[in-house]
Amino acid sequence: MLDLRTQYARISADVDGAIARVVAGQRFIGGAEVEALERSIAERCDVPEAVACGSGSDALLLSLMALGVGPGDRVVCPAFTFFSTAAAITRLGAVPVFADIDPESFCSEVDAVRRASERAGAPAAIIVAHLFGRAAAMDPLVALAAELDVPLVEDAAQAIAARDDSGNAVGGRGDLGCLSFYPTKNLGAYGDGGMVLAADTGMAARLRLLRDHGGDATGRHEEVGINSRLDAVQAAVLAAKLPHLDAWTNARQSHAAAYRDLLGELGAGVGAGSFDGLVLPVRLPAAPRGPASHVFHHYVLRVPADRRDALRTHLARAGIDSGVYYPVPLHRQPCFASPDGDTPALPAAEAAAREVLSIPVHPELSKDQIGIVVDEIRAFFERTA
Ligand SMILES: *Cc1c(COP(=O)(O)O)cnc(C)c1O
Repeated sequence: MLDLRTQYARISADVDGAIARVVAGQRFIGGAEVEALERSIAERCDVPEAVACGSGSDALLLSLMALGVGPGDRVVCPAFTFFSTAAAITRLGAVPVFADIDPESFCSEVDAVRRASERAGAPAAIIVAHLFGRAAAMDPLVALAAELDVPLVEDAAQAIAARDDSGNAVGGRGDLGCLSFYPTKNLGAYGDGGMVLAADTGMAARLRLLRDHGGDATGRHEEVGINSRLDAVQAAVLAAKLPHLDAWTNARQSHAAAYRDLLGELGAGVGAGSFDGLVLPVRLPAAPRGPASHVFHHYVLRVPADRRDALRTHLARAGIDSGVYYPVPLHRQPCFASPDGDTPALPAAEAAAREVLSIPVHPELSKDQIGIVVDEIRAFFERTA
C-alpha cells in the first residue's frame, strides 16, 4: 500500500539535512522549526492560525477541549471514519451521536448530519470528515452549523491539499480543522504528529495553552490541558517534505485516473450492476481551484460484500497489498454502544464497511504496477463470473 523507502531515497539529502540541523541545535520540543512549520501549513491551508500537536488524534481531542466540550455533551460525528474521530468525544466524557455518510463519496453529508443533530438535541459540536482524501461538500455543512449555531470541526487527517465545493482548502471552513502527519498520511512525518487549523486567534491561543498542560508563560494554569507537542525533528522532516506535496498529490490523482480508465474499460462503473458490481470512485476534476477535489489518500473500490474478502485474498496471492478501511462502522463498535441499547440504522455506513476495498495508489507506484493490479482484478472477476 505504500513505498516509503523509495520516497525517502528520492528526498534523503533534504530530510537528512533537516534532521541533522535539529540535532546540532539541540532544541527538540517546540521552537523555531515547529513555529516555521505552523506558518507554512497555515499558509498552505489558507487559515490564519495553525497549532502543532502530537498527533491527529490529539488534534481532535484538543479541538473539542478548546470548544469546551465536556461530560454529558453530545457531539455529532460520522459513523464511517477512523476510530479516533469518535474516541476524542468519549475521552472527554461526551457522547458521540453518529451520522450516516454520503454513499458516493464516503464523506459527511448534510442531510444525515442534520438528522443526527436532531437526535442529539442540542449538540455541543459537529465533526465532519473528508474521508479517503475526498473533500466533503462543505457549503451545506457550514450553513447547517450556522443555522444550528453549533461549532464545526473538520477531520481533514486524510485530505491535506484537497479543495471543497467552493474551491477552499479543506480544514479551513469549520471553526477548527484537524490534520494528521502519521507516517502513512499524504504528508507524513517520521513519527507521530498533528495540527489544528484555526480561523480565530483567540482559539489558537487557547489551543497553545491546552497542548502544554494548560499553563501560561508565568506558570499559571487556569485549566488542565494535556501534553501534546510536536517535536522539532518531526517539524523539520515535514518542512523538508512539504515542497513535494503537490507533486505527490498529482501522482496519486494520475494513478487514480489510470485505474479509472483501465477498470472502466473492463466495464466497472460508478453505478450498481456494472462489471459484476465493482464500483469506482467518481471522477473529479483535479484543478487546484476547481470544484471539489480528491487527493486519493486511498483509492477505494466497492466490491459486492460476498466477494470482497475473496478478492483481497486473490490480490494477496499475487503479491498485491490491499486494505479494508473500515471493517466496522463506529456505531457498531462495542465501546460506543449506547447505554439504552438503541443503535441507529445507518445504512450507508454499514454498506460501506461491508464493501470497501482500498488498492495501492501511493505516489511511488509505477504504471506497470497499476497494470498488474488491474490484470489481477480482471482475472478474479473472470474466474468468479
Ligand atoms: C489518521 C487519522 C486520524 C488520527 O490521526 P493520528 O495522527 O493517527 O492520531 C484521525 N482521523 C482520521 C480520519 C484519520 O485518518
